[in-house]
Amino acid sequence: MNISLLRCGALLCALGGLLAGSISLAADVPYFTDNGYGNPVSTMQHPEGEYFQGVTYVTFQGPHEDPYVAAYNHITGQWLGPVRVGVNTMGKSPDQIDPGELDNHGRPALFIDGQGYIHVVFGAHGGDPVYGVDRFGTPGKGRLTHVISTQPDEISTWKTYYLTSPFATYTQWVRTPNGDLYLFYRHGSHRSDWVYQKSVDGGRTFAPEVSVLKSKISSFSRTTHDAWYAWFDNGKGNTITAHYVYHPCADFPNHTSMRENLYYMQMDGRDGSWTNVQGAPLALPVTKEYADQHTIILNSGKNKTHRGVAHVDPAGNPQIIFALRRKLYFVRWLGHAWQAPVPVEAAGQGRLGLGDFIVDSSTRIRALLTSNHDGVGEVGWWNSDDGGLTWTKGRVLLAVKGSSFVATSFIRYANPDALMVVSETVHGQGNLYHHLYLIGDKGPIGRPAAGASNLGDRLQKLKLLPKGTPKEDAKRRKKKNALLKAGDEN
Ligand code: ZN
Repeated sequence: MNISLLRCGALLCALGGLLAGSISLAADVPYFTDNGYGNPVSTMQHPEGEYFQGVTYVTFQGPHEDPYVAAYNHITGQWLGPVRVGVNTMGKSPDQIDPGELDNHGRPALFIDGQGYIHVVFGAHGGDPVYGVDRFGTPGKGRLTHVISTQPDEISTWKTYYLTSPFATYTQWVRTPNGDLYLFYRHGSHRSDWVYQKSVDGGRTFAPEVSVLKSKISSFSRTTHDAWYAWFDNGKGNTITAHYVYHPCADFPNHTSMRENLYYMQMDGRDGSWTNVQGAPLALPVTKEYADQHTIILNSGKNKTHRGVAHVDPAGNPQIIFALRRKLYFVRWLGHAWQAPVPVEAAGQGRLGLGDFIVDSSTRIRALLTSNHDGVGEVGWWNSDDGGLTWTKGRVLLAVKGSSFVATSFIRYANPDALMVVSETVHGQGNLYHHLYLIGDKGPIGRPAAGASNLGDRLQKLKLLPKGTPKEDAKRRKKKNALLKAGDEN
């Protein structure tokens, strides 16, 4: 590949984006690929990128919902890939145009071991019952698949392994400074425990599952199960934080997407023990009743919550950005109590979407979030200097009229030039493909148009698909709108 890459600065890329459509004359495009598919990235499966020895590696869901990896070399300024690294058994052919036909739960998560081998897990929405008995819940679809690059620091060839349970959803890698590696995930579909499997040899072998959050028949209704949405990441030192929301999983047809409350606890990676925020020991797995007693931050009543992202301040006190009534809120532990949750927003700046945040000190917090106002999609900083009590809009790193963005959580050990990947949806686009941007403090890291063009004749082929009857089209539109409205993980 002949690459003479020009990095585009924030302003140029922002302008380039605003002129999208006429940008093809420029040598650069601000995105690194055009073949993100369905919901190609999320903060949930994480990390979706890692920086290692001068290179940022990223993963995303591409055509056929298969996992892809691309790499940006910060020293030479060159992009490699994206390359397909495995096959998602939940993928459908030909390319779909109905978002309801995609599963999206098989989205990949990535980590790099000490020798520089790149690992990606993907391909499961709970795991198909054909793979055995799900001892921690109810199986679903697909099979958790683990691929490892055959060479260190190299993304062209991969080998497939099955090293963990097949029954996984929402895979999350956490590595502690002592070198231990954890894969956290939900062990099946809704009615399943959240578990982890630990590896002490860089992801080549894993210990059996340890259940963290218990799914069971609820104490208030025989037709409802306790279920959870959780997010795990590094705390202080070898600590791992967990924050989560409760899902009352009712039998059909009474099932809803309700999520309630907000909870927090932490694990000491040295001995696997868990404590609540006050430091009191916890008995695992945590049930709904036990969580209400020992780990609750917020009783949201009838208001819907969503899990978010969490980090700790230098003293180890957790801070969380989560959603309440579909608005982003910030909450932090003051050492003796939770500060009351406050909205992360400034008047007139539109609706914010989840991204990730950096805790510089107990009071100085910088969040990199997506937003939408007046028809302009943005990715930019939101800052607080008073411990999250008030927020101001900071620098905008990417702005495109007529688009909106979805972010990953931060790339692990990120270079400031490459903090996260965002997926672009152009309003009214007639297909499920998305431009993906690698974005950092200087804006997106673009590349020559040829390298970013990876769809081949897929869009032309979509146009040749037989059209549905008016009735089928109406049904599809209705389903699509319902999906857009819900926007929930499930
Ligand atoms: Zn449910």
